[in-house]
Amino acid sequence: MRTFCGRANPTTGSMEWLEEGEDYDYHQEIARSRYADMLHDKDRNVKYYHGIRAAVSRVKERGEKAIVLDIGTGTGLLSMMAASAGADFCYAIEVFKPMANAAVKIVEKNGFSDKIKVINKHSTEVTVGPDGDMQCRANILVTELFDTELIGEGALPTYEHAHKYLVQEGCEAVPHRATVYVQLVESRRMWSWKKLFPVHVESEDGEKILVPPSEMESCPGVPSVCDIQLNQMPSSDFSALSDVVKMFSVDFSKPVQSASTYYRVQLEPVKSGKAQIVLSWWDIDMDPSGMINCTMAPYWVKPASALQWRDHWMQCVYFLPREEPVLQGEKLYLTACRDEYSVWYSLQRARADEEEHKADVRVESPVCRCRAHLLWNRPRFGELNDQSRTRQYIKALRKVLKTDSVCLCISDGSLLPVLAHYLGAKQVHSLEVGCGCMQPSRIDLYHPHKLWLAFFKANNLEDKIKIIEARPELLKPSHLEDKKISVLVGEPFFTTSLLPWHNLYFWYARTAVSTHLASSVTVLPQSASLHMMIVEFQDLWRIRSPCGTCEGFDVRTMDDMIKDSLNFRESKEAEPHPLWEYPCKSLSEPQEVLTFDFTKTVPQHCLSTEGSVKLLRKGKSHGAVLWMEYHLAADISVSTGLMQLTNEKGNCEWNPHCKQAVYFFSSVIESEILSDPTAVTYAINFDTKTGEIAMDFKL
Ligand code: SAH
Repeated sequence: MRTFCGRANPTTGSMEWLEEGEDYDYHQEIARSRYADMLHDKDRNVKYYHGIRAAVSRVKERGEKAIVLDIGTGTGLLSMMAASAGADFCYAIEVFKPMANAAVKIVEKNGFSDKIKVINKHSTEVTVGPDGDMQCRANILVTELFDTELIGEGALPTYEHAHKYLVQEGCEAVPHRATVYVQLVESRRMWSWKKLFPVHVESEDGEKILVPPSEMESCPGVPSVCDIQLNQMPSSDFSALSDVVKMFSVDFSKPVQSASTYYRVQLEPVKSGKAQIVLSWWDIDMDPSGMINCTMAPYWVKPASALQWRDHWMQCVYFLPREEPVLQGEKLYLTACRDEYSVWYSLQRARADEEEHKADVRVESPVCRCRAHLLWNRPRFGELNDQSRTRQYIKALRKVLKTDSVCLCISDGSLLPVLAHYLGAKQVHSLEVGCGCMQPSRIDLYHPHKLWLAFFKANNLEDKIKIIEARPELLKPSHLEDKKISVLVGEPFFTTSLLPWHNLYFWYARTAVSTHLASSVTVLPQSASLHMMIVEFQDLWRIRSPCGTCEGFDVRTMDDMIKDSLNFRESKEAEPHPLWEYPCKSLSEPQEVLTFDFTKTVPQHCLSTEGSVKLLRKGKSHGAVLWMEYHLAADISVSTGLMQLTNEKGNCEWNPHCKQAVYFFSSVIESEILSDPTAVTYAINFDTKTGEIAMDFKL
């Protein structure tokens, strides 16, 4: 079998598919997997164990043999719990081969080989009968197939199939049931991830307001789930318009239907406001009585003592198709529609005729009609709606633009060309490279050109800004009406960027268009710098930390497997995380480690640096955080990482729209003695040939 791995190439701004050799064995997938996080989820593990013991007892009390089907066994954990609880036999199904292999080893090491059979198949391929994978149907169904949206990993079709073919009627299920909860809220912050707000620009001839085209106002957006660590959303950033309401439940001990359907609840707003967002999470009852409950409820719904940090299950943010003003006490209906894998919401006003309502419900997943939701993802919407950020760019543009400026903008889906026009540039061209990496079918769908035409039309900007659909190296003088560029601008932002420095593609593009630049060209940003800080994470460290034992079972085989994968070639590299969701404290001062001069072309040689950072605060150094800052013009910089250090304790405030790079250290050191601070030495190398940054740290 051939394995292809996708990788963004920062020197071309496009996505490339590389074929991996025989020895690849899914290292990236394992290194970045959520297994460690699940094994660290004490609350989940304890409750599963409790629920499994109770289910085995119930079956035994009926005088039956306890035959367990564990779908998606992963490390084999839940099967080992069942075997320890006295189950007679367990069929442990795992589709992902490297995991199935690990499960065999872990089961053996823990002495359960005679009680647990690991089957490396998708559950829908499993056969039952004397010659089958399973001798007989199971009477206990154990699974953990849930994602933050509950059903996004295919739990429903898997259960549907299992009830038809793999388990007995009246079987016990752990978990027994799942319930989805919702709360209607108003939140300018979260709504700013869904639609573009008007942009205000003070120009020479008065204030200009850039408005989104009308299609964007009513566009339902895209169906992909927006899952976040809602516990990091301060209560000042949203206002609850309803109580928490049960939306729907699924009983896993009975046949499950996966076909599209909808659920509807009545709501009475507790407050008047603008209904924009549905916040949602779920809980699972491990037993029929509901005594063993594992919940994802956020901090304002449950006591702090019950909070368990986890990254594999978070909370969901759903965007209503449009904003609805609602009045306290009025009768509303909230409808959840779902297909096999995803959920979406709509709000209706109460009407006398119930039947009429039913006719209203179209169980059709949302499709973006305005194209903007295909061009901009949710953090990008948030970034474009960030007025203070926009003001920085306006201030910088104002410094560099003249009435005779010929301006070229290189960034994906950027508003800079419009700002440059409003601020008086004579000619504005925009190079959209974002589609260079897309499949032709997708380009057609999202065609940036069409979106921009609608945009320009809504703002009477037709013919004012020229969109060039060419890669920078293919730019011709005719694209620019034979003029030289006097101002080259970029945010920079490119849709293929994964790590902060991938936006240095701007530098490569700038190099490629060199011959079109006037000798006196101004480049904005004039330079970029890479910054670094050593941190202690409150919780994020768990996702890359070994587990040793989990509820008494030895899972070191899994730890070793993750370690091997992290050490495999480039897997040991920085990874992107949006740190506003993952609190940490700084142990060192932030430090500038590399600078990139955009006024010059990309050099042939590598850029490297070495040095040491002192650990000034007491704490565990889990890793280094790296981010980029862009120097737009004299005294005007924007940071895609640290915004500020908020207090003496080193709490950090991060840019809420960007992911930062996190490099986890392979061992953690505790800095203790502050009079003689420990130093961490580093070596960082920017390879100008590949556009990648390699780093090494010694503690
Ligand atoms: N049960 C383990 C791991 C849960 S992660 C634990 O609780 O710690 C879910 C696992 O299920 C993944 O390893 C995934 O590969 C596997 N999986 C998901 N759907 C499956 C299916 N229908 N058949 C077999 N394996 C499945």
